[in-house]
Amino acid sequence: MVLAFESVLFGVCQMDQIGPIDLALGSHTPIYQQLFDAIAGRIENGALAPGARLPPTRRLAVRLGTHRNTVVRAYRALEDAGFVVSTVGRGTFVESAPPQKPRLPGAPALRRESGPGGVAWAGLFSEVSEVESEQRRHFIKLTRAGGDRIDLARHQPSADLLPAELFQRCLDHVLRSLGPRTLGYAPRAGVPRLRECIAEDLTRLGVSTCAQDVQVTSGSQQALDVLVRMLVDPGEHVLVDATTYAGAIGVFRAAGARLIPVATDEEGPSLSALERLSRSGAKFFYLMPNCHNPTGRVISTRRRQQLVAWSRRSGIALIEDDYTSDLNLDEVEPPPPLRALDGDVIYVGTYSKKLIPALRLGYVVGPAAIHERFEALKHSMDLGSSLLLQYGLAEFLERGYLRAHLKRIVPEYRRRRDALAAGLAATLGNALPVRLSSHGVVSWIELPDALPPDRVFERALERGVLVGPSNLNRSGDLSEQGIRLTCCAEPAARLREGGQRLGTLLLELLESESGEQAARPLEVI
Ligand code: PMP
Repeated sequence: MVLAFESVLFGVCQMDQIGPIDLALGSHTPIYQQLFDAIAGRIENGALAPGARLPPTRRLAVRLGTHRNTVVRAYRALEDAGFVVSTVGRGTFVESAPPQKPRLPGAPALRRESGPGGVAWAGLFSEVSEVESEQRRHFIKLTRAGGDRIDLARHQPSADLLPAELFQRCLDHVLRSLGPRTLGYAPRAGVPRLRECIAEDLTRLGVSTCAQDVQVTSGSQQALDVLVRMLVDPGEHVLVDATTYAGAIGVFRAAGARLIPVATDEEGPSLSALERLSRSGAKFFYLMPNCHNPTGRVISTRRRQQLVAWSRRSGIALIEDDYTSDLNLDEVEPPPPLRALDGDVIYVGTYSKKLIPALRLGYVVGPAAIHERFEALKHSMDLGSSLLLQYGLAEFLERGYLRAHLKRIVPEYRRRRDALAAGLAATLGNALPVRLSSHGVVSWIELPDALPPDRVFERALERGVLVGPSNLNRSGDLSEQGIRLTCCAEPAARLREGGQRLGTLLLELLESESGEQAARPLEVI
C-alpha cells in the first residue's frame, strides 16, 4: 500500500513544491525512515530551501495516515543529522547549511556497503530509549551552547565549593594504607566502614538506623532505578507529584512504569487526590519532603503524618528522596523524615549535593523485607559501586571533614540565595510569587498562564541568564507552572545580577502580557 502526501500548506513552504511523499507500508524500511529519506532528499536537492518550515507533526501525521510519533521520530532523526533545527513553540525549520559529516584529518572514511543489508539502527531502539522529551533535548542543546551566561539552572556546586584537596588527602591515605585492597570489586551492600558512617549521619538526621540496614548505591539516581525495577513491572503505575524531579520521570519511564500525577497544595501532596488514588494499583508514591525539586516546597509536619497514615491504609509504599539533607540554609530543622514516622518508608539519600557529585555515592534505607531483593538487583545492574571512592568517602566522614565542609558551604549558599533574592526584589519587586530555598539550593518563581515557562527560558537566555523551565518537570496534567532557580553554581555577585536581569525581564513580560498580572500584591511563598 502506498500513501501519497501532497499540497500541505505550512509556513513559507508548500508541499506541492516538493511533490508527493510516497510511503510504502509493509516495506522493510520503517515508515519514519522513509519519511526521513523523503524530506532529507528534498533538502539535498534544494526543493526545500534553507529556513523553510516543516509542517507541524500532528498535521503531517494526519495527512499521511500515520502515527504522530512516527513523524516526531523522523523530525528528530533529521535534526540529529543536521538537516533541520527545531525550536520549542515555533516549529521545525530547514537548516541554513547542509549537514557536514565531520571526519578527523587523515582518518579513513567509514565504508558503507552499497546494496541491501546492514543494521537499521533506528528501527532497533526500544520504546523506553526515548525517555528524553523533545523539550528536554532542546533545553540541553541551548544550555550547552557557549557564551557567558549567569547560570541559575545548574544544580551542582561551583568548583570553589568542592573539597578537592581534602578529598585528595583521604584518597591518598586509603591508597597508601590499604593499597590494592581498595582496587577490587566492592561488597554488594557497600563498604562496611561507609555504611557505619552513613548510619551515624542518618541517626543525627532523625532516621535511626544501623549499618546493616544501609545499602550503598551509585548516586541516589541509581537508588531510584533499582527501586522502580524492584517494585514495578512494565506497564504498572507509580504516583509522582504532578511537577517533579525530571530525573525521576526519566528513570521511572525507562523502567516501563506509567506515571500518575498527584496534585499539590501548600502543605504538600494533596490528600484528597491521594485518597482518590488509593485503589489505583500504584506500587509507590515518590516524593521529596524537604526540598521539592523544582518547587522548593517543604512538606508540613501534619501532611507528613497524613501521608504515612494514607500509605498504611492504601498499602502504597512511600519513597522519600532526601537529596538535600544537611543543607539547612536558615538553620531551621526540617520536620521529621517520613522514615522516622513509619518503618515501611524507603528512604533515599546522596552525597552529591552536600559534598561531591562525582563520587556517585548514595544510599537506601528501607524495611528488612526489601534488603535481599534490592541488594541482588543492584548487584546484577552494576557489580558494585566504586570500592576506591567508598573507602575515600568513609575516610572523609570518619575524619569529620563533612561537618567542616558543611560549616563552609551552608553559610555560603545562604549568602548566594540572599544575593539572588535581593537581585529579584530590586527589579521584580512583588509582582510574582517567589519561594526561596530553605533546605537546599532550589528557589521557585510561580508563573501565570500568560507566561509559559519555556518562553521565559528562551527570553532569559537572550539576556544571558539560564533558568530551569518547569516544562521539564511535568509528569502529566495538573502540573505547576514556574521556573526553578538554583543558587549553587555562581558566586553571589553574579547571582544578584542574574536575579536583577530576570526580574526586569519578567516584569516586562508581565506588563506586555497583561497589566492586571503586574499589579498582583506580594505573596512570598
Ligand atoms: N533526586 C533529586 C531530587 C535530584 O535533584 C537529583 C540530582 N539532581 C538526584 C536525586 C540524583 O542525584 P545523585 O544521583 O547525584 O545522587
